[in-house]
Amino acid sequence: MSDSTCIFCRIVAGEIPAKLAYEDEGCVAFHDLNPQAPVHVLVIPRRHIASLADARAPEDEAALGRVMLVAARVAEEGGLSAEGFRTVINTGASAGQSVFHLHVHVLGGRPLSWPPG
Ligand code: 5GP
Ligand code: ZN
Repeated sequence: MSDSTCIFCRIVAGEIPAKLAYEDEGCVAFHDLNPQAPVHVLVIPRRHIASLADARAPEDEAALGRVMLVAARVAEEGGLSAEGFRTVINTGASAGQSVFHLHVHVLGGRPLSWPPG
């Protein structure tokens, strides 16, 4: 399922260019347009899931597992395995979600403070 009004579905379809970091049959990873760290990659399922709160279909279980494994692979390929990295899923507008197609941020390459803002 895809949503023609969704910017990330349009990236999956190749209608909007993105700098790809990884892709397979289930997901796509690409560099964030507005990076918040030296490495900032977004990993998304190809299929449109609006947010983590909307993930409840039986097939979402495999999709979510896949994006997390790909997040770790992208971090490793970005040279982040030794120093560490952060994975973030913002869910809902008040948590900072601005694109309503589920995505995992992979951030690293600088010290990351906690708690987040
Ligand atoms: P959110 O705020 O929803 O957690 O994260 C959305 C992310 O998508 C932001 O970090 C934003 O910079 C990124 N983004 C928004 N539009 C585009 C785009 O067209 N291309 C790319 N590569 N990143 C985008
Ligand atoms: Zn979408």
